Amino acid sequence: MSCVTNSVCKLCRRENMKLFLKGDRCYTDKCAFERRPYPPGQHGQSRLKFSEFALQLREKQKAKRYYGLSEKQFRKYFHMADASKAITGTELLKTLELRLDNVVYTLGFANSRREARQLIGHNHFLVNGKRVNIASAIVKKGDVIEVAQKSKELATILSAIQAVSRRTVPSWLDANHAAFKGTIKDAPTRDEVTISVEESMIVEYYSR
Ligand code: SF4
Repeated sequence: MSCVTNSVCKLCRRENMKLFLKGDRCYTDKCAFERRPYPPGQHGQSRLKFSEFALQLREKQKAKRYYGLSEKQFRKYFHMADASKAITGTELLKTLELRLDNVVYTLGFANSRREARQLIGHNHFLVNGKRVNIASAIVKKGDVIEVAQKSKELATILSAIQAVSRRTVPSWLDANHAAFKGTIKDAPTRDEVTISVEESMIVEYYSR
């Protein structure tokens, strides 16, 4: 078990930021990144000089791992953002934030994005009153995300709601934990996206 924990936590140490992949543990002093905030491995604490390409790659990996996506999925979102008329990097982050799994996690109905994906896949959520079991669904302004009636006593969801006080629900979302629902007040602006990433470097990475 500790092997699994360490392997996931190594991703945070590699990316030099908390990716919040372990649920409640991420908010405690057991967090591996809090204890060892440097990359894993023999040269973890050495001052290494990185090439421009390596820096761009790290920014891309950071965002990909934060949202729990495969390379293929992440690249697809990049191309969607690139084809839009908006600023590519900002549009990419906005779309990733509006994925249903991210919204369920951010609202506080799951302890991690991975757990959110599992819960959505098992039909525990409704969007605008209709059951949605596709974690990659993109929600929009005005959408209401709700825990299904039969799932309101699910221990996983209840424990996530209890733990949500440890983090802040961003202002673009309106969470009503007592009613087991949340509303998208508006799409997030760049300032409201909390991941610490240089999205312009991601754009440069894919534009090589
Ligand atoms: Fe592990 Fe901390 Fe990263 Fe959570 S935030 S996955 S506990 S290193």
